[in-house]
Amino acid sequence: MSNNPFETSQAALHTAAKIAGINPDAVRYLEQPKRIFQFTIPMKMDNGELKFFEAYRVHYNDALGQVKNGLRFVPDLDLDIVKALGLWMTVKHAVAGIPAGGGKGGVKVDPKTLSEGEYERLCRAYIRKLPMKGAWVDVPGADIGTSGKTMAWMLDELEEIKQYHQPAAINDKPVATNGTQLSMEATGTGVFFVTREAVKDLGIASDAKIVVQGFGNVGRTAALLYREAGFKVVGVGDIKNAIYNEDGIDIPALVEHVAKTGYVEGFPGTKSLSNAELLELPCDILVPAAVQSVLNEGNADKIQAKLIMEAANGPTTPEAEEILAKRGIAIVPDVLTNCGSAIVCSFERTQGLTDDYWDVDKVRNKLEERIVSAYRATKASAEKYDTSMRNGAWINALKKIADSMTARGWI
Ligand code: NAD
Repeated sequence: MSNNPFETSQAALHTAAKIAGINPDAVRYLEQPKRIFQFTIPMKMDNGELKFFEAYRVHYNDALGQVKNGLRFVPDLDLDIVKALGLWMTVKHAVAGIPAGGGKGGVKVDPKTLSEGEYERLCRAYIRKLPMKGAWVDVPGADIGTSGKTMAWMLDELEEIKQYHQPAAINDKPVATNGTQLSMEATGTGVFFVTREAVKDLGIASDAKIVVQGFGNVGRTAALLYREAGFKVVGVGDIKNAIYNEDGIDIPALVEHVAKTGYVEGFPGTKSLSNAELLELPCDILVPAAVQSVLNEGNADKIQAKLIMEAANGPTTPEAEEILAKRGIAIVPDVLTNCGSAIVCSFERTQGLTDDYWDVDKVRNKLEERIVSAYRATKASAEKYDTSMRNGAWINALKKIADSMTARGWI
């Protein structure tokens, strides 16, 4: 199996389409992006040197609405990654019932090598050079290497270009610039809501043992909510290594420890482990919330969890999925588990368009309603077609996209 993310995304598309008999012409549309923008950003660095940065924006598919989200500023960005992420975003929006298509893009750069001024100039230049932008065509949001701060710079630049305010044209911006509440916690909160539903369905105890790999934005938020709800978070890992305590880790105290030291390592009362050992710990629920392909042929037969919640994008390789399925281990797929930020970004655009800004309870309640309903629809589809939750989610998404294409006369 290839490690090319675009081929992986296409494999998921074709598998689900075949099971549900999706119109082959709809599938043909989804085999390629609608638009690809690839451009160069020349920029004078602080020391006077002229550098050129590769930039991308893909409008993967807009049958369901304007494209949205995802600007990655990373050193290994390439077109295949952007295309794969664009298709996943298209599917995530459809899974969550959001009237939007999938967009993804970014700049090939390591932001750590930039000064603050260079970073800001690069963000502003990206938006200036982006050919199509605005609330009804393309709404960029944050991803790896971008944040509320970068999105605020982009919003400001866009409003300078257009000469009017348009808060609905950029997502993931701070509340101070008419962003939404819960922006940073959206994905982890959604992961928690979906886990709670899966636990009920699978008859897993409400004080189940949970292992979380990744203690960033997503993993940390989910772990805090798990602990608050009475689950026992027994293992936590980050890029350096992992920690374990079979009686449960005090997550709020761990957040403070990580804020001080940078890593989970050395948290009092825990045993130190490698990331590989973390994934193989005895537990009820495993939550990969870090990077792709961590569950693979090498460890799938050693995983002890009953349920895997894919908080990261693409944490399970297709080979591992086959092994895990044979072993009766349930997987709730990434396009459903981590669609919380896609949902809250849609709320952010709605708030910007109406100038009606919601309090945090309203955002959280609407997120819960939307993501639980997406979980229920996915489960029903998986049962109907006697297939995995991953295929169930993709089938629901593909049906909605194909229906819109039919109604529009595309197919
Ligand atoms: P983050 O950068 O805030 O945190 C990532 C965490 O993973 C950190 O604790 C880091 O130390 C750890 N990590 C990094 N590389 C690792 C490795 N090789 N092994 C073990 N741990 C490692 O990122 P995040 O926003 O929390 O995103 C985590 C995952 O969730 C990513 O796969 C991302 O694509 C996915 N995701 C995030 C969002 C979102 O809203 N942030 C939405 C959808 C999907």
